[in-house]
Amino acid sequence: MESQKTCKLFGVIRAVLGIKGALPLIHGPLGCAYHLRYILSARSSTPVRILSTEMDQNDVVFGAEEKLEKKILEVDEKYSPELIVVLTSCASSIIGEDIESVIKRVKKRINADIIWISSGGFEGNQVDGYEEALSRFIDLMDEPPHNKGGGPSINLVGQFRGGQDLKNLKSDFESLKIRVGCVLTSGATFQEVKNAGSADLNVSMCEASALIPCEMMQKKFGTPFISPVFPVGVSTTSSYFREICNFLGVEYTLQDEEKHAKTLLKDSSRYLAGKRVVVISGSTRAIALTEFLCELGMEPVLVCVDFEGRETMKKLMKITSREGINPVILKEPEYHEIVHHMTKLKPELILGGLGEQALARTFKIPLIDVMHSQEVTMGFKGALKLVNVIKESLNP
Ligand code: SF4
Repeated sequence: MESQKTCKLFGVIRAVLGIKGALPLIHGPLGCAYHLRYILSARSSTPVRILSTEMDQNDVVFGAEEKLEKKILEVDEKYSPELIVVLTSCASSIIGEDIESVIKRVKKRINADIIWISSGGFEGNQVDGYEEALSRFIDLMDEPPHNKGGGPSINLVGQFRGGQDLKNLKSDFESLKIRVGCVLTSGATFQEVKNAGSADLNVSMCEASALIPCEMMQKKFGTPFISPVFPVGVSTTSSYFREICNFLGVEYTLQDEEKHAKTLLKDSSRYLAGKRVVVISGSTRAIALTEFLCELGMEPVLVCVDFEGRETMKKLMKITSREGINPVILKEPEYHEIVHHMTKLKPELILGGLGEQALARTFKIPLIDVMHSQEVTMGFKGALKLVNVIKESLNP
C-alpha cells in the first residue's frame, strides 16, 4: 500500500528521454505527463519535455484516435523531432486505442520517425517500462557491418542518468582507448541506437533492467555482455574497468588515478569509521554504495533496494560476508518498514534520493542525494567527490 515503486510509463519515459531528438507523446490525461515531467525535472535540474494528448472524460468513453492523429501532426510541425514515441497511459490502454492504425495513417505525412510503446501504468512497474522500451529500441537496430574497424567498442546498457558522471566515465573509457558506441539510453543519438548492434561488448549498468536487453542483443547480434558492479567507490571502479579491459584485451592504464584516489580515501576514512549509514536506492547503486561504505570503514546498517535484480542478493551477500557485516536488507520495502528499521537502527546518514528528504527531516540526519543527475559519484573522481560530501555532511 505504501510501495516505493512506480508505474511502467515512468521507465518507458526515462528510456525515451535518453535519446537525443526523441519526443515522448503520452496518449493520456494531463496528470501522467505533469507528474513525470515534474519529478524528472526536479531530479535532473533540467527542463524535461514530455507531451500529452490531454484526454478528457469524453475521450476515455468514446476514444480519441482522431485527437491523437491531430496531436502527432502538431508535434511534428511544432517541435521537428527526429523520433516521435507515442506512449499509451492507463486510460488509452484500458479502452484499447488502435495506436498502430493511427501511426499507419500519419507516417507518410510527418518528417519524424514514429513508433509506439504500450506503457499503461497498470501493465507493470518502472523496470518493466525500461525493459520494454529498450527491447523496442533493439527492434530498431540495424544489422552491424562486417568490417567495423576503429578499435574496441562497448555499449553501456541500462544507463539512464547523464550529467557530469557520465561525461567522466566516458572520458575514462577514452583514456583506455575504448570507444563508447551507445549509451542506452542517456544522450544517445537515434543513429547511435540504430548502430548499437556493432559493439564488441555490452556492459550492463543496471541490475534490474539491463540483463534482458543484453541477452536480446546477444541473441540478435551475437554481442557478449558482462554485468560488473557499478563503478562507485575506488575498489569497484578499479574492478569495473579491469573487467572490461580484460574482456576486450585492452591494457588497463588507470593505475595512477587509482593510486591517488586510494591514498586520499585512506586519509578520509579515519573521520568516517564506524558511522552508521542507510542506503536507499535501486539495486545497482545499493550494491556499489554498500561496498564503498565498507571501503571507507563506515557501517551500512540498513540497505533498501527498490528492485531486486537477478544477482542483487548474491552480490550483496558477497560483500557482507567478506566484510563481516550484517546490515538489515529490505527488498522492495514499503515506507513504514523503512521508518520502523531506521527508528531501531539509529543511523547517522542517508544515501538516497530526492524521495528521502522527508525521512532525513524526520530523523534529523543528513541526506546525500546520490541519484541526482548533477551529482558526481562514478569513477575515481566520483569516489573522491562523494567522500568529501559525506565528510562535510557529517562534520558541517
Ligand atoms: S499509473 Fe496510469 S494514470 Fe498513473 S501516471 Fe502511470 S500511466 Fe498515468
